[in-house]
Amino acid sequence: MTFVAVTQSGTLSLNEKTNEFERAGRKLYRFGFGESPFPPPARIQLALSKASHRTEYTEVAGLPALREHIAAFHHEADRYPISSRQVLVAPGTKPLLYNVMHAFQQADVFLPDPSWVSYGPQAAIAGHKLTRIPTSFEGRWRVTPEALDQALARAGKTGRQKLIVLNYPGNPDGLTYSRAELEALTHVLRAQNAWVISDEIYALLDHCGTHVSLASIYPERTMVTTGLSKWCGAGGWRLGALILPPDVPRALYDALVGLGSETYSCASAPIQIAALSAYELDVDVQIFLGAQRRILASIGALVHRKLRETGLRVHPPQGAFYLLLDFSPFAEPLARRGITTDEHLCNRLLEESGVALLPGKAFGMRAEALTARMAYVDFDGEGALKQADFEFHVERYAAKILEGIAALGAWLN
Ligand code: PMP
Repeated sequence: MTFVAVTQSGTLSLNEKTNEFERAGRKLYRFGFGESPFPPPARIQLALSKASHRTEYTEVAGLPALREHIAAFHHEADRYPISSRQVLVAPGTKPLLYNVMHAFQQADVFLPDPSWVSYGPQAAIAGHKLTRIPTSFEGRWRVTPEALDQALARAGKTGRQKLIVLNYPGNPDGLTYSRAELEALTHVLRAQNAWVISDEIYALLDHCGTHVSLASIYPERTMVTTGLSKWCGAGGWRLGALILPPDVPRALYDALVGLGSETYSCASAPIQIAALSAYELDVDVQIFLGAQRRILASIGALVHRKLRETGLRVHPPQGAFYLLLDFSPFAEPLARRGITTDEHLCNRLLEESGVALLPGKAFGMRAEALTARMAYVDFDGEGALKQADFEFHVERYAAKILEGIAALGAWLN
């Protein structure tokens, strides 16, 4: 008997491992798992609690009213036209990404190194040929038009569809693309007629609020994923959305609805009702977004400064709540301690200092490159949201994170 070779997603298994560590009563610095520290606004929680009687299955594509709200919301937030016919709702973006991968038959899939943990396994399960696009610390882990062009050329003329996945602000790097960078990439994408999954799940947590959607530059073949997991602090509610191009081929649309109908059926009805209230870009939501951005920007800047003081290489974050740490300046002393891969590094670091990071390998990095992702979410998000002058209290809120960085620094040096 044979079974599909799929192991548990790296981030989720790390969460279980650190939970065990904590159950054993050991001091833990939770930098491994990237869950929003902020609760959804009270109004949205109330909308959910009032919707418990909604027990029906909805349309596979999602409630028509919700699709309209999402279209209007992102039209306003991202300033490009979207009709509700372009929107599909599902229980999280993960199944949407999975189904997009399956809607393409035998495509050439291109993933930047580094990129989020699940794209590669999903592409492999769908039977696609995977090509990685190298990036560098010096190039801020960004895909350049040259590297994209070379990767596309390397894949050769196969006649298959080309599907590129971009994610910004990015997990695991916390960095984003400027409009000019996206325009330069679009040049290459357009010349190659390539499809793009633009995973913009952290768009609304761009620390400056200046996210530019690729769909506003390359509307003809960009499929945007977004949802409530990050900006609304509701990952476990499971609500994601896919925004398709305005002229999406009928066959692609039908395949996505068909795949949805054969897998998840629909997002849960009460969650969709609560999402109606979340996808209202009104003053409440604007205040909620603005506060999260200020808090994440302040903590991100502080954490970056402290990490630099340890001697690690790391870029100042621009969005979301991640940093990709480059331990390569410590390669020699680490090798003397018998550490030559990122996995080994993360295991020893956890065992010896209680600091939980996720190895860069999970994101497609070479294990010997000695990179690891840090999520800076181990703080009281609910309290921080209530703190009007947060900037003056950042050290207090970030105390546990700073303690963890000190433990990391001590372990390193
Ligand atoms: N994309 C990225 C980059 C993510 O970080 C995550 C969540 N960790 C997802 C997609 C999946 O999100 P969802 O909860 O919508 O399935």
